[in-house]
Amino acid sequence: MLIRNVCLPDGREAQDLLVQDGRIAAIGPQLAAPEGTEIIEGQGWLLSPPFVDAHFHLDAALSHGQPRFNESGTLLEGIALWGELKPLLTQEAIVERALRYCDWAVARGLLAIRSHVDVCDDRLLAVEALLHVKKLVAPYLDLQLVAFPQDGLLRSANALANLRRALDLGVEVVGGIPHHERTMAQGAESVRLLCELAAERGLRVDMHCDETDDPLSRHVETLAFETQRLGLQGRVTGSHLTSMHSMDNYYAAKLIRLMAESRLSVVANPLINISLQGRFDSYPKRRGMTRVPELMAAGLDVAFGHDCVLDPWYSMGSADMLEVASMGLHVAQMTSRSAMRQCFEAVTSIAARIVGLEGYGLDAGCKADFVLLQARSPEEAIRLRAARLLVVRRGQVVSRMAPATARLSLPGRPPSVDWSNTGGAKV
Ligand SMILES: [Zn+2]
Repeated sequence: MLIRNVCLPDGREAQDLLVQDGRIAAIGPQLAAPEGTEIIEGQGWLLSPPFVDAHFHLDAALSHGQPRFNESGTLLEGIALWGELKPLLTQEAIVERALRYCDWAVARGLLAIRSHVDVCDDRLLAVEALLHVKKLVAPYLDLQLVAFPQDGLLRSANALANLRRALDLGVEVVGGIPHHERTMAQGAESVRLLCELAAERGLRVDMHCDETDDPLSRHVETLAFETQRLGLQGRVTGSHLTSMHSMDNYYAAKLIRLMAESRLSVVANPLINISLQGRFDSYPKRRGMTRVPELMAAGLDVAFGHDCVLDPWYSMGSADMLEVASMGLHVAQMTSRSAMRQCFEAVTSIAARIVGLEGYGLDAGCKADFVLLQARSPEEAIRLRAARLLVVRRGQVVSRMAPATARLSLPGRPPSVDWSNTGGAKV
């Protein structure tokens, strides 16, 4: 396959991309097409490596309304609601919903998902279901699972034993939720235990950490410390970290340096953070997203995750990582041209690094996984939630979408609408 005439996220224009044996064989201007090559005209649209969601909950996705709706919209009612739904779950239902979500993901050019899976159910129903889904979707989507003790590692009976069993079954990442343990001390203890478990087994760590507006929720400090103590640098992610939004600036400055020293990665979940945080505030209401630009400036990898779609915590979403990037851009006020591009990277290349995807990217030798977007730049893709014209996995087209357009019937105006900003007439 040869894709002709595309632009790339780094700004290169009029590039061709040649695919052979499921890999990118060459990328550059005006490549020659070997005999028998299928040629696809890119028409100058943006070719990007696929979207990557570094933080999701596939076991709960698309369960919205079961057994009832979250009326308050709060995190705590969401957790309670999930507790009501858990005993009613069946493997078949989890598998069916997860596969449906993966279809949505592929159609949106989202080809890798790190999903947390709740291990606080002695049957490990969701773990078994998602391990099965992981195998089923492997040809078209990379699914990485995190063993997540939703009700607290120390607070919930059997959570540690269940988490170990989940890892034995093939779950690859150690999760946690220190701010949900009974006390700060127990939260710190859970971080220590989980990091030791990850070190023992040579695994990565990704914890829900400090998902609260409480500025004194400082478990990320312990996470950074344990990362250094156990030599886990580069393998540990702090997800959410919303308390950092409310922290004292002096302390936050010290903390960010410690996090950089420990080479922590961070995942903010803008749609969820803006919806769930600040719920105990009157006005002004805090935004409750972590300090994304400051963390990026300190050299940390910061990705944006979707976290939830149509589940007990969130009644919106459609697997669109451009919607996630757009919300992140707005909440963090990342409006400069370079910051907007960083928001695009937060749902593509940075997320891929955090998840540890191999062969990701658009260089020769990388896996031939990419998406052709109906946009001329990353920031335009975010602005338009651009149509995914073509999604390719290992050199095979796995989804096509019609361009977004409209037929106009306006006197004296063109017959169809052009969404791109061409600059207009000179003034
Ligand atoms: Zn989460």
